[in-house]
Amino acid sequence: MNKITLLDLINNLKTYNSDEVDIVTKAYYFAEYHHHGQFRQSGEPYIIHPLNVAYTLSLMHADRDTIIAGLLHDLLEDTTVTKEEIASEFNPTVANLVYGVTKMSKTLFKTRNEEFCANTRKLIMGISGDVRIIIIKLADRLHNMRTLEYKTRQKQIENAKETMEIFVPIAQLIGAYQIKCELEDVSLLYLEPEEYVKYFNMREKLVTEYKSMINDVLSQVYELLCTDNIPSEIKYQIKNIYGIYKSCQSGAELTRIHDLIALEIMVSSIRECYQTLGILHTNFASIDYAFKDYIATPKPNMYQSLHTGIMVPEKGIVQAQIRTFEMEDIDKYGLIAYWDKLKGKAKDVMQSDLQMKFPFYQELAKINATCTNNQDFVNQVKNKLFTDKITVSTSKGSFFQILPSTTVSEFAYFVNPEMGLSVVGAFVNGKQVPLDYTLKSGDRIEIINEPPAFSTVKNSPLVLKKS
Ligand code: MN
Repeated sequence: MNKITLLDLINNLKTYNSDEVDIVTKAYYFAEYHHHGQFRQSGEPYIIHPLNVAYTLSLMHADRDTIIAGLLHDLLEDTTVTKEEIASEFNPTVANLVYGVTKMSKTLFKTRNEEFCANTRKLIMGISGDVRIIIIKLADRLHNMRTLEYKTRQKQIENAKETMEIFVPIAQLIGAYQIKCELEDVSLLYLEPEEYVKYFNMREKLVTEYKSMINDVLSQVYELLCTDNIPSEIKYQIKNIYGIYKSCQSGAELTRIHDLIALEIMVSSIRECYQTLGILHTNFASIDYAFKDYIATPKPNMYQSLHTGIMVPEKGIVQAQIRTFEMEDIDKYGLIAYWDKLKGKAKDVMQSDLQMKFPFYQELAKINATCTNNQDFVNQVKNKLFTDKITVSTSKGSFFQILPSTTVSEFAYFVNPEMGLSVVGAFVNGKQVPLDYTLKSGDRIEIINEPPAFSTVKNSPLVLKKS
């Protein structure tokens, strides 16, 4: 990776917030001055670390105060600078952000005891105070993970586990997709080095092999949209190393992973999203289980897109993700993408969006209110919020987020406890399955209920509702 310089940070900032160049430059020199004489384990001057943290934040279009806090985030812990000094040199918000980050980093996750749970709770509930503190922590963790090679083996494993356990789920919750993927990959590198190399190479090979095919499909789709007067921008993305590793672990064959290669199609309006979907389904064979409408039903982290799988003759499946340009920012950076929209009001906008639009927030508040014990809190958050959910739908078109190993009978209870009592089986994607059938992402379910006890019709058909 190329070394990041102050100029890189400034150039990036200029693309979305050119008014704040001076104050950010001031923060850089302030941090450099106070970290002077300190070094990273890599031997580099310490300032490299906060600079990288701030740079990551600028890639996410973070607001000014967050970038400055990124540059200053280790001053309270590692130098004689005080919170008051930061407040008077910059502003009280920056001072609070730095203070919040410092308070978390000191004793975080050292041991699996009460202290660990108390700190994890503090970190997670920080979301409800000022979510920017957590985002700075994520950027901090990302750079520390990128430079983990300079730590002892034991420290590497500890940090990688902690990253997978806490930071990846948080990145997922707030929708910081790119950070999540990189944290996963780098954690795998330290937790399963051999597997990492294996899947890294597999992915590289795939990229070379499929490059011309992907470019063909890409220009084909582009042409089709042009013909229909839909201006678009199309990119592609290959699943991250950890994602491929995980899919293969659960038994999928490489060429059968339906989101291995994803075309990202950006258009101007929601209407054009559905038009684009129609065009794809008219011109390519599509895979029904791969279709998902996350525009009508956004993911819990506010991700919105239409997903479908298209067949490329003799090559396999390519996932198409269709969204508007506006959705694209949120899909990449999540909550953070809201920041630069209302300068100065970033925090208010984010906190209220968080409460109004992100479903996990209510759940989190509920868990926090009901758990007096920190251990309980951590367990419940892990089970209810940090576990990857899958999306299934009913034949009526309602979508449900459920845990990955849910069976038909558990699903029926989940939807409606009364239905849970009378369920005898189900049709999943049109095929009849037993009660203990394990549901998979994208399944379309029609529950078969026992006929009502008072029914006088003998041998009445099991299906109550015709599709
Ligand atoms: Mn740091």
